[in-house]
Amino acid sequence: AVAPVLLEVSGLSARYGKVAALNEATLSLRAGQIVTVIGPNGAGKSTLLNAMMGALPTGATASGRIVFQGEDVGRMEIEERVARGLSLVPEKRELFASMTVEDNLLLGAYKRRRHGEAGYLDQQDFVYTLFPRLKERRKQAAGTLSGGERQMLAVGRALMAKPQVLMLDEPSLGLAPLVTREILAIISQLRSTGVATLLVEQNARAALQVADYGYVLEMGEIVCEGPAAVLGADGRIVESYLGVG
Ligand code: ATP
Repeated sequence: AVAPVLLEVSGLSARYGKVAALNEATLSLRAGQIVTVIGPNGAGKSTLLNAMMGALPTGATASGRIVFQGEDVGRMEIEERVARGLSLVPEKRELFASMTVEDNLLLGAYKRRRHGEAGYLDQQDFVYTLFPRLKERRKQAAGTLSGGERQMLAVGRALMAKPQVLMLDEPSLGLAPLVTREILAIISQLRSTGVATLLVEQNARAALQVADYGYVLEMGEIVCEGPAAVLGADGRIVESYLGVG
C-alpha cells in the first residue's frame, strides 16, 4: 500500500526583492518517505526549505500553497508550523557554542516544555538512542564538538520538537564522506520510526543513495523528478550532478 501524502507543496514561488529565487515549485512527501531535492549551488534549495518553514529573511516574499495534513500552513508563523509537525535543520546549524549538548537539545523542545508537555524527556531518550555520541557528550559545550557531531546535534535538536516531517538543508556540507554516510544512515533509520525527511543536497550521489524519491532543482525550477534509483541511473543527471567515477 502507498503511504498517504503528508505534505503537498504546489506552485511555490519566492523572491528576494526583485530577484526571483524559486519559480512555481511543486512537490509532495508521503509518510515515512525520504525525498531529496538536488541541484547546483544557487539553484534555490535553501530558499525552498525556508519558504516551506516560513523562515525566509525579511524582505523576501513567497506565494503558493503548502498543505500539511490537509491544512494550508503557508501563511503560518514558524512556531505554528513546528507545532503542527514540521522541523528544519538550517544550513547554518545555529547551535549555541557555549551551551552544553543537552541544553542545545532542550532548546529544540522549549515550546513543548513551556506548555507542560512532559514527552520531551522521552524524545530526548529517542534522540540519544539515535545518536549515542550525543549522549556521551551531553555535558560538553557544543562548540567543542567535531563537525559531524555538530550536525548530529542540529538534527537531534530538530527532532526534539517531535516532527513528522524533518527538513534538512545540506547535512553533508563540510563533512568528510564517511561522516556524511554516518549521518545519512541515521536518517534512514529514522524512516522506520515513521518520520518523513525532505533532504536538500548538493551531494547528489549520497542523497540519491538514501532517498526514495527525488527532484532536481535548477535555477529555481524543478526540472525533473522520479524514484531515486531512476534518477541515479539517468545519464543526464549522472553527467550533471554525479560526475564520473
Ligand atoms: P546553496 O547550495 O549555494 O546554498 P541553494 O540552492 O540553496 O544554493 P539559495 O540559497 O536558495 O540556493 O539561493 C537561490 C538564489 O537566491 C540565488 O541566486 C541566491 O543568490 C539568491 N538569494 C538567496 N538568499 C538571498 C538573500 N537573502 N537576498 C538576495 N538574494 C538571495
